[in-house]
Amino acid sequence: MARYRDANCRLCRREGEKLFLKGSRCFSEKCPIERGAGPPGQHGAVSRRKTSEFGVQLREKQKMRRLYGILERQFRGYYERAAQMRGITGENMLIFLERRLDNVVYRLGFAPSRKAARQLVRHRHFMVNDHIVDIPSYMVSPGEIIKVRDKSKRLDVIHLALRDAGRTSELPWFRLDKARLEGEMLAIPARVDIPTTAREQLIVELYSR
Ligand code: SF4
Repeated sequence: MARYRDANCRLCRREGEKLFLKGSRCFSEKCPIERGAGPPGQHGAVSRRKTSEFGVQLREKQKMRRLYGILERQFRGYYERAAQMRGITGENMLIFLERRLDNVVYRLGFAPSRKAARQLVRHRHFMVNDHIVDIPSYMVSPGEIIKVRDKSKRLDVIHLALRDAGRTSELPWFRLDKARLEGEMLAIPARVDIPTTAREQLIVELYSR
């Protein structure tokens, strides 16, 4: 019997892999990817012609953009900044994405998904170094302390997310104090430590065409 799938799951189905956009559901057997769902749409399951090199690069870019929930213009902006820096452009870009405040809130386990993290940040539930920051794209730097505001410490969504975050591995560039609902970014993440299937080099190739 056909079942309702909302837009987030369609994005995963389009990319053919789990993007973890829906919190605890993503870890359950309700996840359509776990159940073997193919691409969305009436003709989603129809086999297509071999994907071109451009097509592969485009899909990788779309996947990463959707994973972090960023619109095209801002995403390209990260690439352009990364390309001007020393080092490997793809890695620099990935590190920019990881340093976004909404991603940091998610990685620390204070939100069940990046989308939920963005909403919590926008609703002024977090402080960085004792200042309220409500900008999801804020770049967190090593040494900065991210904490839940006192008036937000009883929010169920945060406690439930922290409870469930135990199933994701702890990341070496953070220190998390669950009792105080605060975390610190200890260092800029190394590419090898970032848990992602992203092939960022394909995105660099796409943008440098
Ligand atoms: Fe839906 Fe999450 Fe599964 Fe993606 S990973 S298809 S968002 S349940």
